Amino acid sequence: MKINLPELDKKRVVVIGGGFAGIALVKKLAGKNYQVVLIDRNNYHQFQPLFYQVAMAGLEPSSIVFPLRKLFRKKENTFIRMTEVERIDPEKRQLHTTLGVVNYDYLVLATGAETNFFGNAQIADKAIPMKSVSEALYLRNHILADYEKSLSIEDYEERQSYLDIVVVGGGPTGVEVAGSLAEMKKYILPKDYPELNIEEVDIFLIQGNKDLLHGMSEKASEKALEFLTNLGVKILLEKRVTAYDGKRVTLNDGTTIPAKKVIWAAGITGKSPEGLSTECKGPGGRILVDRYSKVQGHDNIYAIGDIALMKEEAYPDGHPQLAQAAMQQGKNLAENFIRLDKGKALVPFTYRDLGSMATIGRNRAVVDLPNIKFQGTFAWFVWLFVHLFSLLGVKNKVFVFLNWLWGYSTYDQSLRLIIRPKLNKVDIPSEENAPVL
Ligand SMILES: Cc1cc2nc3c(=O)[nH]c(=O)nc-3n(C[C@H](O)[C@H](O)[C@H](O)COP(=O)(O)OP(=O)(O)OC[C@H]3O[C@@H](n4cnc5c(N)ncnc54)[C@H](O)[C@@H]3O)c2cc1C
Repeated sequence: MKINLPELDKKRVVVIGGGFAGIALVKKLAGKNYQVVLIDRNNYHQFQPLFYQVAMAGLEPSSIVFPLRKLFRKKENTFIRMTEVERIDPEKRQLHTTLGVVNYDYLVLATGAETNFFGNAQIADKAIPMKSVSEALYLRNHILADYEKSLSIEDYEERQSYLDIVVVGGGPTGVEVAGSLAEMKKYILPKDYPELNIEEVDIFLIQGNKDLLHGMSEKASEKALEFLTNLGVKILLEKRVTAYDGKRVTLNDGTTIPAKKVIWAAGITGKSPEGLSTECKGPGGRILVDRYSKVQGHDNIYAIGDIALMKEEAYPDGHPQLAQAAMQQGKNLAENFIRLDKGKALVPFTYRDLGSMATIGRNRAVVDLPNIKFQGTFAWFVWLFVHLFSLLGVKNKVFVFLNWLWGYSTYDQSLRLIIRPKLNKVDIPSEENAPVL
């Protein structure tokens, strides 16, 4: 069965994925001489850098997602379909989705990445990833429900397992989550749960490398370590999690930590629909592309964003899997589609590094810009500003700003609600419609 789409007298560009890369591309192509079909398993774009604030009950999920239909409301050549793409048939230039088949003239893969559990099925089953807003909400419910339960547990060991949280991965996500949890322990728990002995609450951060924020500057790593240590986070460097059965985390040196919650921020791996040749599969599940984002060994198929591995002289292992790289690739590919239509020469992609940053609680952040690196309060304001202005939608910007202002001045939020959706009776073609908790 074919998905119902108007047959226009224009070449059809089908884009899989309404993330940073896909949106940047479709925005530029909207209104141009192509029919653009944007496919995503969700009907919204997710702002992943702020997932952790949803998980920590600092922001409502609706503040960091944006409806795709609203984004392209007035673009007549742009069509949106919410469905999961399962397979590509490059020979027939067709996509097989849960809604049916879609034909394409050009296909763009902007499918991003998923959590990497490094093949450990037990950890994949028990640990909590944070790669979607639903997972962030699940985590929020889990944390709050466990604090509630801990109040009625008399046994110290058992209570510990409900209170302690283990964060795995000392990159920006792990560092930001650990910092937020430590602040929740310091500012929120004593007010919300006065019966709890907060000394019993431990936040562990486990990092495989010898430093945090590996890949950022030495100063940023040192400062992140200092900030988190001052917040009381127990940091274990050069340690790996080898097993987790839902109750106890085991490390490679044999140490065990009782914890009912393990937040997995230890890495990502690319995932694309089946059907592509093996010749284009690169390391880390990424798809090998040339400097024009064209997939190796395939005509008319392109890949951008986290899923793509494009080698540049300065980036022999591919670009960093960051929002900026994804957006810049999306824009460049859209401009090349426009040039192609006009018979102009295509322009190869060159990545412009705008720097990286991470925040570690209020008034503390680290910022590495190409020519300058700084840490502390000013860095924190820069972090706030950059993230606020990167959010899609004026309403989202205003709501997030007000939330931050409120949180900053009161040291409190009123979003600590455990809301569990009832069983979903709507047949949504999404892997994310499972009941929360
Ligand atoms: C917790 C977290 C924090 C982060 N913080 C930062 C940060 O501070 N700064 C920064 O620059 N980067 C950050 N990143 C990385 C950044 O979010 C990614 O680099 C960026 O999202 C990549 O964009 P993308 O378009 O390639 O993929 P994504 O944004 O992941 O979008 C992929 C889209 O494809 C859809 N999709 C995938 N497969 C299918 C399919 N088969 N069928 C239909 N739809 C599909 C998904 O639903 C999704 O909408 C963070 C990531 C995470 C997880």
